[in-house]
Amino acid sequence: MVRNRFAPSPTGNVHVGSLRTALYNYLFAKKMGGEFLLRLEDTDQTRFEQGAVENLLNALNQTGVIPNEGLIEINGEVIQKGDFGPYIQSERLDIYHKHLKTLLDHGQAYHCFCTKERLEAVRDSQKLAGQTPKYDGHCRNLSPEDVQSKIDEGIPYVIRLKLPENVVISFEDGVRGIIEMNTNDLDDQVLLKTDGFPTYHLAVVIDDHLMGITHVIRGEEWLPSTPKHVYLYQCFGWDAPQFVHLPNILNDDHKKLSKRQGDVSVGDFLAKGYLPEALVNYLALLGWSPEDDQEIFTMEELIQAFDLSRINKSGAVFDRSKLNWMNAHYIKELPIEILVKNLIPFIIDAGYIQVEDVENRKEWLEKIGELLRERIEYFAQAKEELTLILKNDFVVTDEEALEFLRAESTKRLYHVLVEKIEATDVLNASCGKAILKEIQKQEKIKGKMLYMPSRIMITGEMHGPDLTLIMDVLGKDEILARLISMKSIIE
Ligand code: GLU
Repeated sequence: MVRNRFAPSPTGNVHVGSLRTALYNYLFAKKMGGEFLLRLEDTDQTRFEQGAVENLLNALNQTGVIPNEGLIEINGEVIQKGDFGPYIQSERLDIYHKHLKTLLDHGQAYHCFCTKERLEAVRDSQKLAGQTPKYDGHCRNLSPEDVQSKIDEGIPYVIRLKLPENVVISFEDGVRGIIEMNTNDLDDQVLLKTDGFPTYHLAVVIDDHLMGITHVIRGEEWLPSTPKHVYLYQCFGWDAPQFVHLPNILNDDHKKLSKRQGDVSVGDFLAKGYLPEALVNYLALLGWSPEDDQEIFTMEELIQAFDLSRINKSGAVFDRSKLNWMNAHYIKELPIEILVKNLIPFIIDAGYIQVEDVENRKEWLEKIGELLRERIEYFAQAKEELTLILKNDFVVTDEEALEFLRAESTKRLYHVLVEKIEATDVLNASCGKAILKEIQKQEKIKGKMLYMPSRIMITGEMHGPDLTLIMDVLGKDEILARLISMKSIIE
């Protein structure tokens, strides 16, 4: 049975690249009827950030990439579920120590007492000589007695992997094919740090094996470490899982996606009003492509279509305009109640409604929803769009706009418009449409000369949503008040 895992370090916000890794694991596990577990890799205690686990589980829950084993959240509480726990690495130290002892006993690992200063000096001189910096093996062949006496003296140490010399390690990566690496090009990896915690490299191998992981699907940045992992599997006499390394996610400049170029965390995107299903859909296609050219997928469809063999080799550029397009597509399809629900926090934030008025102004909110549906790509854009129509203290200064207002036909337009609006009971979209049509017929004012001055008189803007929808949102009294305040300019 397929068992895979998402194994993040709790280091703060969840990067979209991490969510993509989690998603591919999830899709593959679901497709194969397997298990998808969440393991916390917190062996680097210096990188731990408060609230990181909650952030992580929130991001997964909100996007529907939900593990069924390991660290999971039930009713707001974080628990560990499954027979292969603990699923938090800092709770597994005795397991790592036990396995490390086996490696030491077999001469596959050794104590290293080198000081930081010595290691730095070695590295500097290697660099000067144009060599790739690597541990020089200084402690590789200490006698057991030497080791013991140094330990007894209390000299701090790490434990390193003792790689054999000049041996080719090879494995097959699901995306990149056969990978071969000579141990001469590898470092004697630190497996246990001076603080008694294992490094990622030791812990990941032991955990993946003990947790029965069949497929390791993770970011490409781990590909260069994988030969060391494969060697560790050999040392322990274990079968290695299938490795699948996902292509990097890149900025427009083809460097690795970083914060400097804008939002990169799942939380940032959700806070801006990107829909979780759009983000998931977008990330699914960032490094994987379906057999046909379908672009919009539900999670269920993704599970059906997902196939490890269609993961791309080359880096995937994070195209924000494509994400926006996709999110806009999802917004267009939303039922009006859901659309409004998503919009409310942004409208409140913009100051156009108070929390306590939300219930009474449902109809108004729905009109706003319909008006914005076609105009925004993510919900945080609502404020700017709404300002275009809801601000009523505008002053028209744009020369082109003033020209429309000064036109001879605008005087006539103004009077009939006021007259006709005054005469209606309520001003809704269809009634607004009818009024504009009547004016067109009656006054022979059409096209631009009809719509532009009307729009400018009502909103102060030359562009914006459909004018009749604006009339619908603002209503008769507000429209009349705005028109009347224009009187002196028009006449
Ligand atoms: N803890 C590693 C990370 O945060 C996991 C890498 C792996 O999946 O093996 O990237």
